[in-house]
Amino acid sequence: MNLTSAPQVKKLLAEHDLRPKKRLGQNFLIDRNVLDRIVSASGAGQGVNVLEIGPGLGTVTQELADTGAKVVCVEADRELIPVLEDVLADRNVEIVNQDFLKIDLPAFLKERGGGRWVVVGNLPYYITSPIITTLLDSKQMVSSIILMVQREVAMRLQAKPATDDYGSLSVFVQYHCEIESVMKVSKNVFYPVPDVDSEIVKLTVREKPAVCVRDENLFFRVVRAAFGKRRKTLLNALSSSAEMGWDKETAHRIIENAGIDGGRRGETLSIEEFGTLANRFQEK
Ligand code: SAM
Repeated sequence: MNLTSAPQVKKLLAEHDLRPKKRLGQNFLIDRNVLDRIVSASGAGQGVNVLEIGPGLGTVTQELADTGAKVVCVEADRELIPVLEDVLADRNVEIVNQDFLKIDLPAFLKERGGGRWVVVGNLPYYITSPIITTLLDSKQMVSSIILMVQREVAMRLQAKPATDDYGSLSVFVQYHCEIESVMKVSKNVFYPVPDVDSEIVKLTVREKPAVCVRDENLFFRVVRAAFGKRRKTLLNALSSSAEMGWDKETAHRIIENAGIDGGRRGETLSIEEFGTLANRFQEK
């Protein structure tokens, strides 16, 4: 079924007596070019496992299935399930009606044959971060993630140190993944038109994290503490963080041993420098 135009989408919704639900971020893709770019970036094909989050009307899903990939899609809206069954009728797609954030992902993927999965999602923007975190918590089962995200979030994911967009989400994602921008997407390629522009990003899970740290939990605690008070110096941010529990003298010694100037702001530190800092603390 061709769903890459607003009249076709409206017709399909009307046939099922449905309207797009704002609370579930339902803005359906209606652009052929963008659709092709998503499918091509996913690398879907014979022998590839694809998990799609939020298939909506099945616009992207049907194209993914037509590549010969094994496709499982998870849609939270019960009312869209009959639409998906209709659109995907002759295709080999498993449709699951669940809130993705309530799934036990490792168990869910194991039940479906395990292995590694490519994840595709044109997501409601308010759940982008928890979805990325959920996926990367199971990164041994995920090879890459192709996401349509709000333009601002795409900038945060790709941000470099000492920029306004750089934050703990940037460090978290760049630590686990290589990131590339697939394309910038105008808000006019959706029905209904959302308030913001989007971008498609591809996160390829690294074989090894971007830096070698001895204790990942500690590394992310340091990162969170440094960004928690991003206008403070690194020394003040780390020594006043309840999560770190460092007094000023300890923080000073660790930062100095790491060869970092404690007068810098945490937001100027590279991932490597955060790694050195966490490793120095471990040695102490
Ligand atoms: N992929 C479709 C497309 O490109 O046209 C639909 C995209 S729409 C932006 C987001 C979809 O995610 C909607 O179908 C919505 O119902 C679904 N959704 C929202 N929250 C979800 C959740 N927690 N788990 C699974 N699906 C969800």
